[in-house]
Amino acid sequence: MEDTLFDKILRKEISADIVYEDDWVLAFRDIHPQAPIHVLVIPKKKWAGFQAFQSASPEEVGRYIQGVSAVAHALGLDENGYRIVWNQGRDGQQTVAYVHAHILGGRSLHWPPG
Ligand code: 5GP
Repeated sequence: MEDTLFDKILRKEISADIVYEDDWVLAFRDIHPQAPIHVLVIPKKKWAGFQAFQSASPEEVGRYIQGVSAVAHALGLDENGYRIVWNQGRDGQQTVAYVHAHILGGRSLHWPPG
């Protein structure tokens, strides 16, 4: 698999504004925020995209989803809510081949998205 920017952030070779870390996930602020709070959550177990989940361990996928929820909680977003976005593949505008959830919050978000 391609060694991506997010592999390097996970290995702490590239600096990032890390807001949360546990055994399963790392979360850091997006460098081009699209909302007052815009945080990316990556699993420590690397998957390039959602297609990998078809053969992934349910335990590891579940831990990742629980991690995304924990990050939103740590950011203080539980009460007002937030949006989670996973861009997938070319048409989904995924630019980094390492699964990453965007957590967007801190204001009322528009719907539908483009
Ligand atoms: P994607 O478009 O793949 O869903 O999301 C990739 C995200 O990574 C984009 O929102 C982009 O702003 C963010 N990004 C790109 N380069 C960097 C970087 O060097 N540091 C951080 N923290 N975010 C980045």
